[in-house]
Amino acid sequence: MKNICILGSTGSIGVSTLDVLRLNADSYTVIALTANNNIDRLFQQCVKFKPLYAVVSTPELADLLESKLHHSEASQTKVLSGEESLRYVAQLEEVDVVVAAIVGAAGLLPCLSAIEAEKKILLANKEALVISGDLFMSAVKKHKVDLLPLDSEHNAVFQCMPAGYQSGQPAKGIRKILLTASGGPFLDHSLSELSAVTPEQACTHPNWSMGKKISVDSATMMNKGLEVIEASYLFDLPVEQIEVVIHRQSVVHSMVDYIDGSVLAQLGNPDMRTPIAQALAWPERIESGVPALDFFKNNTLTFECADRDRFPCLALAYDALAIKGTAPAILNAANEVAVEAFLKGKMSFTHIPSIIDTVLNQLPITPVDSLDSVWQADQEARSLAHQRIKAL
Ligand code: NAD
Ligand code: MG
Repeated sequence: MKNICILGSTGSIGVSTLDVLRLNADSYTVIALTANNNIDRLFQQCVKFKPLYAVVSTPELADLLESKLHHSEASQTKVLSGEESLRYVAQLEEVDVVVAAIVGAAGLLPCLSAIEAEKKILLANKEALVISGDLFMSAVKKHKVDLLPLDSEHNAVFQCMPAGYQSGQPAKGIRKILLTASGGPFLDHSLSELSAVTPEQACTHPNWSMGKKISVDSATMMNKGLEVIEASYLFDLPVEQIEVVIHRQSVVHSMVDYIDGSVLAQLGNPDMRTPIAQALAWPERIESGVPALDFFKNNTLTFECADRDRFPCLALAYDALAIKGTAPAILNAANEVAVEAFLKGKMSFTHIPSIIDTVLNQLPITPVDSLDSVWQADQEARSLAHQRIKAL
């Protein structure tokens, strides 16, 4: 029996994880669930899974959830609040596996706490790794934790690595990693059409159903940019060895191109329950609830070049990775602020790359020698991005 803590259980990844756990209830127990403020969904999850702990963002929400739980079958669940509590549940003695499924930089500290407590980490929260890079990977190595990527592309690459491969190790014989990208909902839009797209259109992904932030990131292709940075740290590869390939069908989840000419790929239906099940059970396999891939229905697989001029966010992420230091943290923070402003109708879709570009160009980039340097860059980038958005 493995004991699980899900950080961000009410989100898209959290819900898919609970689906897989429900299918494999004989092998996994849910110990802790956390949410920012969706207490209705967290309440339902507590009633179903009866965790020892539930964590929400504020004491007021904790009181509300506690009173609802008091009269339910999950009256034993202890309700906590705040970031300290996220870190606390990620380090619980009883927990074996932590699913890092909070969105954005907010997930970094709880994830690092889980690493320090030597938990197995299932990483969906790419922003945490992108902003802290080498610090994150040295903590993984220092505490000898198993780090399994949930991001479908990185999970695919992991599955195409030589047997016994562990995240963070340099893999031998690789020419390139090919990260596939669907291209998002606006791949065929003209550049002039892009300025008028709405948050609703941006959040309607052709192949995947996901949280709002990552849906907008997919539409700008910043998601792929963040994934290029994520891949560089996870697989210890320089920027030149990571290529993005547009693959509209989202069936090939990514590929590893070896120096002998072999290209290994992982295929499947676009459903996050597959990488979640793979990472949970690794090196074994369990049911995920995902139907088998039908090769006679999905028999057209296409591959195209990813045009960095068309997707400036992808180009900005490649630049930030080439510079390293605090550049990825600045890129991420400016992007988080810009995406939120777009979702709130404060600026247009095409302002997103221009805000990030300005912030990256105006702030000093320093080496990442401590978490303080990450947070300082993050805060400076957020405040400059807010200023620039106000001035639009
Ligand atoms: P989501 O918005 O659906 O869910 C986010 C979760 O984090 C929720 O449970 C929310 O309550 C919690 N949360 C948000 N802000 C928080 C804060 N400040 N403090 C504590 N908790 C907070 O997002 P998602 O689509 O599930 O994505 C989660 C992460 O996984 C992201 O980093 C995303 O890039 C990554 N990811 C998602 C998918 C996908 O298919 N959804 C695929 C690959 C990677
Ligand atoms: Mg992905």
